[in-house]
Amino acid sequence: MIKADDCSLDPSALRSVEERARALLNRAEVWDRFPTPIEDILAAANLRVEKKCLQDADGFMAYLAGKAAHIATKAAETLSAVKSALTKVFGIYDPGDSIIHIDDTVSGSKQNFLKLHETGHHELPAHRKMFRFFQDCEQTLAPEVADLFEREANNFARFALFQGGAFSAMAADCPLLIKTPMKLATKFGASIYASAREFARTNHRDCLVVVLNRAEYINGAGMRASVRRIEPSPSFRAKFPIPTDEWITLDHPLGRLLPRHGQRMVKPTSLAMRDLNGQRQECIAESFDTTHNIIILLYPQKALTTTTVILPAGFKQAGNF
Ligand SMILES: [Zn+2]
Repeated sequence: MIKADDCSLDPSALRSVEERARALLNRAEVWDRFPTPIEDILAAANLRVEKKCLQDADGFMAYLAGKAAHIATKAAETLSAVKSALTKVFGIYDPGDSIIHIDDTVSGSKQNFLKLHETGHHELPAHRKMFRFFQDCEQTLAPEVADLFEREANNFARFALFQGGAFSAMAADCPLLIKTPMKLATKFGASIYASAREFARTNHRDCLVVVLNRAEYINGAGMRASVRRIEPSPSFRAKFPIPTDEWITLDHPLGRLLPRHGQRMVKPTSLAMRDLNGQRQECIAESFDTTHNIIILLYPQKALTTTTVILPAGFKQAGNF
């Protein structure tokens, strides 16, 4: 299933989140230092990090050791709610002790994003206040507030990790290839997943990033992968319909982009898409398997080529892909 939107904010909310992130980056003096020095940012925020496995009840309860009983009860409730939703907790912000707890079983680059996300909760005054209140009283955050806070903290983390517009400025000088967000991921200390999303969202060229969950084999149905995220660049969104497919199977036009036989990458492959005017556009797509996700980058190609034509038959929106 395509994941719920985790980053859209109205322009004024986005501006105030970015102002806070910018102020912290100034205090930490990290601009133009690569990879983005996460430890310096945490030090400037006066936050300490504790690493532990949060993926099991024992790990979560270990975190609660020493906490007041009523908080433990609330957090345990959160845990069971979280578990029933099959969502995982990877980071926790504890405003009382200015500590963030980060799951150390996930990759270092993902930990970087999580640390900055939790730092966002600490640095955004409304968050810190509300998290304190949540700890002091037996109140839980209303779901819509919690959802807004998550989107704000994600944008805080994006801004800090990619140093404002530094990522998109570098991407603009690099070729439109899947290797570009991969290279920039290493440069900034970001995951390929976060980097590919940022690449599409901030790109001045037409491009689309489709993130798939790991492919699976279904008896009788063959290989398939569910769509996790679809990120168009602003100009792509203005010209092309945004696909809504939830699954990519081998007979889907993007099926050829599923890496097979131990491949990590699928080389640039031609396909055709109809734009919003119904015009056929020749496109190139390539993919990379991060082992957690398959990242597909698709972009229109100006010059005509003698490429395989992809028939749109059988799609929810005929003409897409
Ligand atoms: Zn959060």
